[in-house]
Amino acid sequence: MHKPINFVLIGRAGCGKGTQAKLLGEHFGNLYYISSGSLFRKLAGQDTEMGHHIKELIEGGGLPFDDIATTLWMHEIAFNVKEGQGIIMDGMPRRLQEAKDLDDFLDYLDRKKSTMVILLNISRKEAFDRLTKRRICKNCGQIIPWVGDYKSLQACDKCGGDLEERADDIPQAINNRLDYFDKDVSKVIKYFKKKKRLIKINGEQAIEKVFQDILDEVRKKNDNY
Ligand SMILES: [Zn+2]
Repeated sequence: MHKPINFVLIGRAGCGKGTQAKLLGEHFGNLYYISSGSLFRKLAGQDTEMGHHIKELIEGGGLPFDDIATTLWMHEIAFNVKEGQGIIMDGMPRRLQEAKDLDDFLDYLDRKKSTMVILLNISRKEAFDRLTKRRICKNCGQIIPWVGDYKSLQACDKCGGDLEERADDIPQAINNRLDYFDKDVSKVIKYFKKKKRLIKINGEQAIEKVFQDILDEVRKKNDNY
């Protein structure tokens, strides 16, 4: 039996990681989804000392203690991922040490070779535009991404409701997230590139084309899929 396939999705905020993760899940099936963001939000909701610390950090925009992210996803994988089940990691690792820890952990589980590290590459300008220009439906709450054909959408494609800009997409907060990517996540990208394991995908294309490019690359590296 071949090893289950795992995906590590890396890219700037707004690059479409969540969308592609969903498409990969539908296509391959039996993938356990992990995102650092939701693990941190889950922890922030706990009535524990650590939960309170993290809640303050998230609200104040600080950075967590170095090994927390690693601890959280290791715990998540250890307690949930079944044998033969793939893993999809959305927006992690975010720091060099996390990347090294993840590699060691995947190696221990004999999953390293079947792990695809995918960079959804979009420029900083594109990321900024997508995050500041995306809209939300006043009626049903659907978020309309500022990408491909959606850019010209005048009303919600689900319910026909009016679209407005999202109030929480503040340029300063967005710039902070993009700074973080340039400073820290770029080291993760370099690490995987050096190991010749980075799959770089042009993320500025239509959603379907991005997905097709990912599938093509996965097939090149795996005879089984
Ligand atoms: Zn709507």
